[in-house]
Amino acid sequence: MTSKSKNLPSALNEWHCLLGDNSMLVGEPAAIQYGACTTPVQRSIPAALLPTSQEQVVALVKIAATYKVPLYPISTGRNWGYGTANPVVDGCVVVDLSRMNRIMDMDENLGLVTLEPGVTQRILNDYLEERGLDFLVPVTGAGPNCSLVGNALERGYGITPYTDHFTAVTSLEAVLADGSIYRPALTGLGGEAVDQAYKWGLGPYLDGLFSQGSFGIVTKMTIALARRPETIQTFFFSVVADNGLESAVGAVREALRATTGISGSINLMNPQRVLSMLVPHPSRETGLTGAIPTETVTRLAREYQVTAWTGVGALYGEKKIVSAARSVIKGKLRPYVQRLVFLDSASLRRGKGLLGIIPRQLPLSGKLSMMAERLDATLNIMEGHPSEIALPLAYWKSGSLPRQGMDHDPARDGCGLIWYAPLVPMVPERVRCYVEMVKNICPSYGLDPLITLTSVSDRCFDSTVPLLFSKNNLDEAVKAQECFKNLFEAGQREGFLPYRLGVHSMELATEQEGSYWDTVRRIKKALDPGCIIAPGRYEPGCHLGKEETD
Ligand SMILES: Cc1cc2nc3c(=O)[nH]c(=O)nc-3n(C[C@H](O)[C@H](O)[C@H](O)COP(=O)(O)OP(=O)(O)OC[C@H]3O[C@@H](n4cnc5c(N)ncnc54)[C@H](O)[C@@H]3O)c2cc1C
Repeated sequence: MTSKSKNLPSALNEWHCLLGDNSMLVGEPAAIQYGACTTPVQRSIPAALLPTSQEQVVALVKIAATYKVPLYPISTGRNWGYGTANPVVDGCVVVDLSRMNRIMDMDENLGLVTLEPGVTQRILNDYLEERGLDFLVPVTGAGPNCSLVGNALERGYGITPYTDHFTAVTSLEAVLADGSIYRPALTGLGGEAVDQAYKWGLGPYLDGLFSQGSFGIVTKMTIALARRPETIQTFFFSVVADNGLESAVGAVREALRATTGISGSINLMNPQRVLSMLVPHPSRETGLTGAIPTETVTRLAREYQVTAWTGVGALYGEKKIVSAARSVIKGKLRPYVQRLVFLDSASLRRGKGLLGIIPRQLPLSGKLSMMAERLDATLNIMEGHPSEIALPLAYWKSGSLPRQGMDHDPARDGCGLIWYAPLVPMVPERVRCYVEMVKNICPSYGLDPLITLTSVSDRCFDSTVPLLFSKNNLDEAVKAQECFKNLFEAGQREGFLPYRLGVHSMELATEQEGSYWDTVRRIKKALDPGCIIAPGRYEPGCHLGKEETD
């Protein structure tokens, strides 16, 4: 990077002519604005550019190519737990696309929205509400201020019917490293409308290169939106004893199989994960090890009637179909789970059904109303309304929550969080093996094993384990990083590998031998020989000059 950065002043001069003062940050202001991170990573960020159009992106990329200054594009840069806005390597100029936030087209008949990278969940939600359009925003737990394009490019997922957000992407445009524009084949042949309606286009599927890739800056994307169905029913269930996990996994798989197209994801959460939503972190009881002792988990779980596993899912569709699917779910789950309850917002707001789900012996009405509020917010998010309900998780161990009226921003607020997010086959014994692995490894680093298993199909779970630590404590931060590495390596031995990596951990995968990363390296060399776009992002080190050795 050093040889490249000596050209930085010349590149900055040209970018200044192109963008002006108000669309550039240089030096410390850029480092402060984009360097805050929930992981222990902090890259050196010499500058940031804030273009407002595709033309500006083309021009700024050409300048970067001329002076060989590497760029790191972000949409809104809220990739919390995976690096936030930090590049994978030091010395990249951040290209912040958040000012490119136009919704360019909304095809109401086909449910296709075409938008720029800066469009957030909130912007799309407002747009749909203002026009009375009945579509669901593809929400995630990361909340209203996150980009739809950034999340889809990371192959993020949510819980509404189009769970996997890159699957819903039908077309995109990107600026390549030489400043040329990539458009899919059908669009190039004059068929933009049909291209946007059909994911695979024609010829080799190249749009996929831009998801978890470093081959271009995406400036436009078309996403298929799920229509708001006539009814949405959320269901909750409990698995009282831990040894019921295997049969519950089998039942979940059968339930998903039998209700394909109607059921969204089903989540299974362990007690620590559920308690993180219900009680303040019991830091006084963690002792020297740092992790919450088993006795405390057991006591709190008893007090709040949290069972060994808690399940949540939702059904989407016409009333008659949802009603039939509900019977199917009952038939598949009831023999293996307890306290299966179906709810929709209307019944919750009428207070009906609530007693079925809220533990009966809760002593305080405060607890009851808090749980009702959380439930309401959970139903909201299931119904495709962006919400910050999941974000306090990032603050559970370390941060103090933002003041009333301020948005949550875990990186700004000093929260320590690294996500471990491996794929786990939906096979009962494999799930058990995975859970035991996480339960063994996390506490040995002073971290709580907060486990969620989210179905991404009826074949596979994606698990998310937030490694929460205090950012003020260097020792904790180091341990969290070591814990992640140990989980990655132990998981790899058992066949559980992440669906997504953070900037701190890319090389754990990309530096391993294999034809896959070799192919990525060759494509990178062909499309971006100067290693200008996002060096090191899901690619094996063009920034290290490895391409020279070919
Ligand atoms: C409590 C909590 C809950 C969360 N829940 C979820 C969840 O439910 N689902 C989920 O998926 N994530 C979740 N996250 C993780 C993360 O915060 C989100 O995925 C978030 O949407 C990513 O940030 P962003 O949208 O700002 O994308 P960005 O940070 O803008 O983009 C992510 C990465 O994609 C690349 N990129 C972005 N835009 C472009 C572009 N235009 N061209 C080329 N490359 C680009 C960059 O490398 C960038 O680093 C959660 C985080 C927290 C703290």
